[in-house]
Amino acid sequence: MAATIFTRCFGRLLKLQKGSRVLECVKRSYVASKMEMQEVYNQTKITAEMQQPMPDQEPEAIFSNNELSLSDVEVYGFDYDYTLATYTPELHSLIFNLGKEALVRLLKYPRDILDFEYDSDFAVRGLHFDTKKGLFMKIDQFHNIQLGTVYRGLQPVTDQEVKNLYEGTHIPMTNMNSFYGVGQMHQMIDLFALPEVTLISQITSYFIENNISYDPEYVFYDIRNTVQSLHTSGVLHDTIMKGLDKYLNTDKCYETKMLLEKLAGEGKKLFLVTNSGFPFIDVGMKYMVGSDWRDLFDIVIVNARKPKFFKEGYRPFRIYDEEKKAPEWGPVTSMRKGIIYHQGNHIELQKMTGWYGPKVLYFGDHVYSDLADPSLRYGWRTGAIIPELETEIEKQNSEVYKSSVRWLVSLQHLIDEMQHQNEADSKELIQTWLQERDELRVFTKSLFNPQFGSLFRTYHNPTYFFRRLARFADIYMSSLTNLLRYSSSYTFYPHRILLPHEPSLYSQNLQLEQGVDRGGLGSRVK
Ligand SMILES: [Mg+2]
Repeated sequence: MAATIFTRCFGRLLKLQKGSRVLECVKRSYVASKMEMQEVYNQTKITAEMQQPMPDQEPEAIFSNNELSLSDVEVYGFDYDYTLATYTPELHSLIFNLGKEALVRLLKYPRDILDFEYDSDFAVRGLHFDTKKGLFMKIDQFHNIQLGTVYRGLQPVTDQEVKNLYEGTHIPMTNMNSFYGVGQMHQMIDLFALPEVTLISQITSYFIENNISYDPEYVFYDIRNTVQSLHTSGVLHDTIMKGLDKYLNTDKCYETKMLLEKLAGEGKKLFLVTNSGFPFIDVGMKYMVGSDWRDLFDIVIVNARKPKFFKEGYRPFRIYDEEKKAPEWGPVTSMRKGIIYHQGNHIELQKMTGWYGPKVLYFGDHVYSDLADPSLRYGWRTGAIIPELETEIEKQNSEVYKSSVRWLVSLQHLIDEMQHQNEADSKELIQTWLQERDELRVFTKSLFNPQFGSLFRTYHNPTYFFRRLARFADIYMSSLTNLLRYSSSYTFYPHRILLPHEPSLYSQNLQLEQGVDRGGLGSRVK
């Protein structure tokens, strides 16, 4: 066994180095000297640099968590905000500015906050806020805090303080607020939450710097309720309607129209379920698709109150009177094209339309409100719109990211295989490798966002956000219009996920190479 420890793990390297001192030392003994370990490190690094670069990923592709054939889909449903309609970064600045003004005007927050400016680079979506401790953080799929992503206001919290505060890094499921339970950990899950995160962070920092006593839970709910009232009062919608050129992402309008016309032209049923009111979506859809946009949709449902629309079955549909701009009182017993429906619920929708199960594909940007219940309770197929995906893939495609990850993976593998070297100077060397690995992790994280990294991964796991996304969405994409790239009979096949106990392609390649070298190096371990 001893003679093969290096050959098993570094067959590729040894093949290149046949006849060298490295090979000799491997053949001689399992215990390697520090110098020999350093040589293996050097050669591993050369090998990593010589590896074929990872292929680019297409930023406008659609990715699948589950097999989905579009030829089985007869009915396409859509959310409106951030699904059919996408917005410019100006909208986040608008929410931030209206929010800070309302905090000063209504809740008498210090006037200094009027000078704050929205920083679009500070936060990422999916963070958790601990309302008791006043900290933002990113959590992984196992509910562990990703160290290096914990912030009090705009200031990072040290790893040691985090471990002291949480007695480690694990957050119990019962402390979660989003989706599970009613705990203190609130997930900032939708795109509208980004200005909220930035406002909470800037105000927290202001209170700390000015020695103003504050309870983070009061600050959180003050800001959350204030921002929420921008939506419910109509202030935000009025401002957007007056500035469609400024706030609606006009780049996608033509493609959105093309997509809807293509689907309707192929005989698919189309429907829209939105929490927004009719006047707001009507203005937006006319701007994006044209004044005849309603001809494309079989059913339009407004003020739907998602997630309750999907979760509860008791609130009935009402017909929306466009002249009076109010719902009628009569009961709705059937649903017809051309009518606007107000509120209602998913069970009644299915009964009146017959749109059951996997023939329905529903698209939304909110992983819980739009996708969880339709998928879990009713077996609809689901598609998530995640606009950040496009930028993240572009960063993934950069040479600096690819080469960093290539070396990070090789270095991690080297550390894994060398961890049994027990000489004091060998252990010391492995510590320097671990330090290098940690620096590489922080560097690759910072390429996405210096504070919080990628929306989708922590250092070595999917994020809490991605785990939910993978559970509730059959497919996901940066924009609904990416669908135009696929025919209506296209099948999305997920990648075969490699389980930890299954052999990787990497191992397979090594075995093949070792097979070639077997005469000189002896048989494989085990
Ligand atoms: Mg939405």
